[in-house]
Amino acid sequence: MKKNLLDYSLEKLGSELASSGFKKFNATQIFEWVYQKRILDFEQMTNLSKTLKEYLVKNFSVHLLNEITRQTSVDGTTKFLFSLDDLHSIETVLMTHDYGLSLCVTSQVGCNMGCTFCASGLKKRVRNLSVGELVSQIVSVEHLLGVKITHIVVMGTGEPFDNYDNVIDFIRVINENKGLAIGQRHITVSTCGIVPRIYQYAKEPIRSNLAISLHAPNDDLRNQLMPINKRYPLRDIMKACEVYFEETSRRITFEYILLKGENDDIKHADELSDLLRGLNAYVNLIPYNVVNEFSHQKTEISRAMAFYDRLTKRGIVATLRKEQGSDINAACGQLRLNSEGQ
Ligand code: SAH
Repeated sequence: MKKNLLDYSLEKLGSELASSGFKKFNATQIFEWVYQKRILDFEQMTNLSKTLKEYLVKNFSVHLLNEITRQTSVDGTTKFLFSLDDLHSIETVLMTHDYGLSLCVTSQVGCNMGCTFCASGLKKRVRNLSVGELVSQIVSVEHLLGVKITHIVVMGTGEPFDNYDNVIDFIRVINENKGLAIGQRHITVSTCGIVPRIYQYAKEPIRSNLAISLHAPNDDLRNQLMPINKRYPLRDIMKACEVYFEETSRRITFEYILLKGENDDIKHADELSDLLRGLNAYVNLIPYNVVNEFSHQKTEISRAMAFYDRLTKRGIVATLRKEQGSDINAACGQLRLNSEGQ
């Protein structure tokens, strides 16, 4: 099997080329062709020498993902079902915003976190996605639609901090100026709260955004909703967030799904604002997207507004997230391992 070019950072490709007798700067030329001019066929890279082209054809290929299905929502959100080389399938979601195009990228085949509201966890993790498979979600969608993706959220199936090294290398590749050049502030990684990785993320040279899936303001409730909380309770997450903020000065997004009768009372809004006070926090209130296998219900809009008002009145910056793509099961928490049942 040929090596997947999309697995390589600029630096790694440069070293690989140098060790085969080519020049380091050839890597820059190749990055410009693949990521900027969108030419994936080495033969067409006119400024490369004949020997380099032959070497590339023999040893490398650009692995695009295989599109199985594509569904487009009434609001323009598009969900792709892709198959990987080993025939596992993953979902990737494209969203249109007034500020650009944002791609929700999957980080694992299946997920082990077992959150009680999320369809992605219905199938246990099968394996991590490689760097090339992460990058290929962007390159494949750009190719299929002829668009330029401007924002990335690592919020598809899987826990990105359970595939930490590949996710960080992925960020390095897509942030590269000679490549896709997606700015660090346009990339967001969302975690259910794997504490040691939050500390590690705080030290990364590329300062992409951090989002924490919180969903409950106290341990009792969070233990019920998210089993990972028994391992990393709120106190530890908040401490890690403080350190992250000291290190990066970056605002942290806290995601909070409103679940009817469970975590959406005014007293929860009070508890949440106490928990986050002093942190540079931004709360994203998310309407619950129904997953048939679970019994949770969606908070009605008036109650969601009351929750939002209470938070803002108590000095917490918040938004009530607009739901996108739920008619095609492409909304948060509705992505799953296979397309069955949809
Ligand atoms: N594992 C990571 C990233 C994937 S989830 C994490 O936990 O952050 C991305 C977001 O979708 C998270 O905030 C998650 O909690 C939310 N989500 C999951 N199921 C949902 C549902 N049924 N309705 C609305 N949001 C959901």
